[in-house]
Amino acid sequence: MEALLTDTLNCIKQKGLYRAFRSLESAPGPVVTINGKRVIQFSSNNYLGLANHPVLKRAAKEAVEKYGVGVGASRLITGNIELYEKLEERMARFKHTESALIFTTGYQANIGTISALMGPGDFIFSDSLNHASVIDGCRLSGARIIVYPHRDLDSLEKLIRNTPKDSKKLILTDGVFSMNGTIAPLPGLVTLAKRYDCWLMVDEAHATGILGKLGKGTAEYFGVEEEVDIHMGTFSKSLGSLGGYIAGNQKLIDFLTNKCRSLIYTTGLPPAVLAADLAAVDLVEKSPELREKVWKRANFVREKLNKLGFYTLDSETQIIPVLIGNAALTMEFSHYLFKRGVFAHGIRPPTVPEGLSRVRISVMATHEWEDLLYGVEILGEAGKKFGII
Ligand code: PMP
Repeated sequence: MEALLTDTLNCIKQKGLYRAFRSLESAPGPVVTINGKRVIQFSSNNYLGLANHPVLKRAAKEAVEKYGVGVGASRLITGNIELYEKLEERMARFKHTESALIFTTGYQANIGTISALMGPGDFIFSDSLNHASVIDGCRLSGARIIVYPHRDLDSLEKLIRNTPKDSKKLILTDGVFSMNGTIAPLPGLVTLAKRYDCWLMVDEAHATGILGKLGKGTAEYFGVEEEVDIHMGTFSKSLGSLGGYIAGNQKLIDFLTNKCRSLIYTTGLPPAVLAADLAAVDLVEKSPELREKVWKRANFVREKLNKLGFYTLDSETQIIPVLIGNAALTMEFSHYLFKRGVFAHGIRPPTVPEGLSRVRISVMATHEWEDLLYGVEILGEAGKKFGII
């Protein structure tokens, strides 16, 4: 066994794909201390800066005082403290759905929901850039998985046409794609879902708090909230804390409560997290200025990087990939940035396809303009040094 592990790890290292933890020694702000060094944070999903927001922290502290630090069991046994019901009612209101269901993580929401709804003999149509948790849910379901090219509605339609008319079909898409920063063509997906009688599920993990007037995500942004059958999202990104949710009609939520293994067989969220999640939804809904700050900063950074000659793929949101290509070179590039005081994590296969490694820049509402300027300057310096631009 030892030899097998060593061989595998050596192979991973040779390909430049070795992963290891870094130690973060400060609160998750726009500037952080990592391994003793203060760096500008360009790699966080804490887009609105809520992970260290005083309102969320206060809510969490009060919940600890009232309910303690853990719920002691899965939700269907005795872990369902009243904050769950408040949060589910709040999320249903936020998403304009009949009902909602809270999961311990977004990963669990995806794997559990997809595998509960779909099974052998069914067909899932999944965008080629969907998140790993969506992919794992598809695999777990045992359904036929048909991957369509990223955002390509014509190809998707042809693929759907080739499947039996009376089969159960699900179209699955991220709202904002986590490694490319692109937005799903939701109106077109709605049309196809209606035309071919498919269910439509949207993962709003990176769109929540960012897209739409009230930050409800891609469906709100395109005005198709009513047309999406299954809204999925997380509390772990713009909402600053932890947890996943599914929002939809009451039948769907009742079905999942009874059939979803990743909900039934895991312990409920700590009270502090539920309270922070509740506070975050209120804050996001009434803080359009935070969204505006993210958009202004992201457009600024993207424009500067494009002008320098970097290829930012088709990014159109707060997530800005800077394409490097080779995995080992990507890590060297990222290490150089770190030495110069900028933390931008390298993203390699299998998270992205072979030959498309990149550093993934994510912009926060709380970034200072001078830090953004410095970050762009250092990226330019690294780009020249490594022959990227
Ligand atoms: N969906 C997407 C698109 C994600 O990017 C992530 C996390 N990176 C998840 C789901 C899983 O969410 P969580 O981290 O809350 O488990």
